[in-house]
Amino acid sequence: MPKLRLSDEEWRRRLSPRQYEVCRRKGTERAFSGAYHDCHTPGVYHCICCGERLFSSSAKFDSGSGWPSFSESLSREALRIEKDRSLGMLRLEVLCDSCGAHLGHVFDDGPAPRGQRFCINSVSLKLEPGAGEGGAGEEEGEKG
Ligand code: FE
Repeated sequence: MPKLRLSDEEWRRRLSPRQYEVCRRKGTERAFSGAYHDCHTPGVYHCICCGERLFSSSAKFDSGSGWPSFSESLSREALRIEKDRSLGMLRLEVLCDSCGAHLGHVFDDGPAPRGQRFCINSVSLKLEPGAGEGGAGEEEGEKG
C-alpha cells in the first residue's frame, strides 16, 4: 500500500475526535473502554487512518491490560517502532508505517517465543472479520 501523507487539518477532518486524538496526537484510550480488548472474532485488523493491514486475530492474546494485545504484526514492514521518552520513561512507540498513525506501544513481556506484547489502542484499529486470518506473509503480493 502506498504511503499516505496528509496534513493535520485533513486528518482532523477525516477522523472522529477520539480517533484523531489517539492516532494523530499520540493519545491513549482508557483501559477496557475500546471495542477490541475483549474481542475474539477472527479477522484482520487494519489501520483506521489508512486501511493498511496491521495485525491478525491469530496473534491476539488476552493480556488483561484492557487494550488489544498482539504477539506480532502481520508483517514487519507494516509497523514503525520509535523511542518514546514521554512521561519520564523510555517506551517503544508503535506506529503505522504507511501513514504514521500512533497505534500504541510494544513491551517485552509478551508470550513465548517472541516475548513481544504489542499494546494497541482499539480506536486506531478496524477489524475486518474473517479476512485471511493467517500469519505474516499471507496474501503477500496480491492486494484486492
Ligand atoms: Fe495507517
